[in-house]
Amino acid sequence: MKYQSTRGSEERIESAEAIASGLARDGGLYVPETLPVLSQDKLNALVDKPYSQKAAEILRVFLNDFGADELDRYSQAAYNDRIFDNSNVAPLYKTGDSTFFLELWHGPTAAFKDMALSIMPRLLTASLKKTGEEREACILTATSGDTGKAALEGFCDVPGTRIMVFYPHGGVSDIQKLQMTSQRGDNVNVTAVKGNFDDTQTGVKAIFTDKTMASEIEERGFFLSSANSINWGRLVPQVAYYVSSYCELVKTGVISAGEKINFCVPTGNFGNILAGYYARQIGLPIGKLICASNRNDVLTQFINTGVYDRNRAFYKTISPSMDILVSSNLERLLFELSNKDGSMVSSYMSALAEKGHYDVPGAVLAAIRDVFACAYCSEEDTQKTIADTWRTYDYLIDTHTAVAFKALNDYRVATGDDSVSVIISTASPFKFAGSVLEALGQPAGHSGMGLIDELQSYTGVKAPLPLSELGEQKERFDTVIEIGEMKEAVLNFLCK
Ligand SMILES: *Cc1c(COP(=O)(O)O)cnc(C)c1O
Repeated sequence: MKYQSTRGSEERIESAEAIASGLARDGGLYVPETLPVLSQDKLNALVDKPYSQKAAEILRVFLNDFGADELDRYSQAAYNDRIFDNSNVAPLYKTGDSTFFLELWHGPTAAFKDMALSIMPRLLTASLKKTGEEREACILTATSGDTGKAALEGFCDVPGTRIMVFYPHGGVSDIQKLQMTSQRGDNVNVTAVKGNFDDTQTGVKAIFTDKTMASEIEERGFFLSSANSINWGRLVPQVAYYVSSYCELVKTGVISAGEKINFCVPTGNFGNILAGYYARQIGLPIGKLICASNRNDVLTQFINTGVYDRNRAFYKTISPSMDILVSSNLERLLFELSNKDGSMVSSYMSALAEKGHYDVPGAVLAAIRDVFACAYCSEEDTQKTIADTWRTYDYLIDTHTAVAFKALNDYRVATGDDSVSVIISTASPFKFAGSVLEALGQPAGHSGMGLIDELQSYTGVKAPLPLSELGEQKERFDTVIEIGEMKEAVLNFLCK
C-alpha cells in the first residue's frame, strides 16, 4: 500500500517515508492510496485481545512496510501499565443503557494525545532508519495545549531527535502551561508565541515550506519533522481506540458483532474524528460520526452548509484544545470525499489561505453529511453538562468531553437516532480543574496547581498522578516571542 498527497502530486511513497516527512512536498497531507479492509472475521478475532495487540493489528493494516513483530514491540512498549494508569489503556465508562464514555486520558499527560504520542516517536525513529535518513529530526510542533506536552513526553531524550514546541501565549491553561514549561530532557524546547493557536500553527507551517529555512536547518545537520496530527504517524494509532471500544462493547454483550454504533467527538483540528472516519472506511460498523464544536463552531457550520469560513471572531473558551478555526485534517476528508481530486483540494486550500473561505459542491457536502452529523455547545451548556453529569451519574467529565456529551444529546433529540453511542472523552477533568470547579458551582479559591487539590477535595475523585505531582515541578522555559520571530527561534535552538 502506497501513500499519496492530498494536493495531487504524482509522488507515491511507503508509509515510513510519509511518517518521516510529515507534510508532503506539495504542501498536502499524506493519505493511503487505497484503503485497507478490516474484515468482520478479523474484527471478531480482535475482541478478546489486549489493547496493545489490537493496536498492533490496526497499525499493521495501514503500515504494511513495517514488520508485524516490530509493530508488536512498539505497541507493547507504548500501551502498558507503566505508561497508562488503567490496565485497559482506554476503558469505557457506562452512563445509561446506550451511552458510554471512552476515556482516552489514562496516559502520562492526562489527555487523548497520549494515545498516539506514546507510540509515534517509535514509528518515526523506525521510519527514519527505513528511509536511510542520517540527519537528526527536529520535531516542530504548534499546540493548543495538549499535543505539546504529549509530544514532549514522547520525544524526551529519544536519540536522533530534538523537539521544539510553540504554544499561544495566554492561550493554554495554567496546568497545561506548567506541564510543558517544566518538561525534562536535553533535547527539548518550549516557547510561547504572542498570537492564538491558528497564528502559531500557521507560523509552524510557514517554517516547513520555507526553502531558505530548509537549507539553513540542513547545514546544521537537521531536518524538520512534525508531531502534529498532520503526520500520518499521529493519525493511524488513533484508529485503534475506535476499534478497541467497539470490540469491548461486543465482548460485554452491549451490541452484537456487526451492529452499528455512533461516536461523538469533541473536535478541534479534526484529527481524532478523522481517525474514526478511517476506522469506518476500513469496515468498523459505525453509523454516524458526530462532530462536536464549542463556540468556535466553524466545523458545525461547514457540515451544515458546505461553506468553510475562517473569517469570523475567534473565542477563547473553557475547552481551549478545541479553539481552532483552521482544522488541518479536514483536508484529508475533503480528498477522500471528492474522489481523490487533488487539484480540487488544492483550490480549496489556496482559497482558504488567500480569502479565508471556500465552499464545496453539493455532492461533496452530501457525502460528508452521509457520514457526519454535527452539533454545537455554548459555554453555558458546557458548564451545565458538567454539573448535570456529576449530579446524575456521579461522573466527573472535563470541558471538552462535556461539549461532546451535549452534542450527542442534541443529536439524539433532533434525529431520534438512539443507537449505542460512544463519547470520546479526551481529557481528565483535573487538567481543566478551574473550569470544572466553576461548572460545579464552586468558584475556585485557588489558581494554578491548587485547583487540582481543590477539585479532589470537593468531589472525592482522585486526580491522575502526573497532575497531582505537577505542583512540585519547576518552570524551565519562559521565553515569549513575536509570531515573526519563530524562524529565528528554531535556528537558535538548532545551534546549541
Ligand atoms: C486535541 C484535543 C481535542 C481536539 O482533537 P482534534 O484531533 O484536534 O480534533 C479535544 N479535546 C482535547 C482535550 C484535546 O487535547
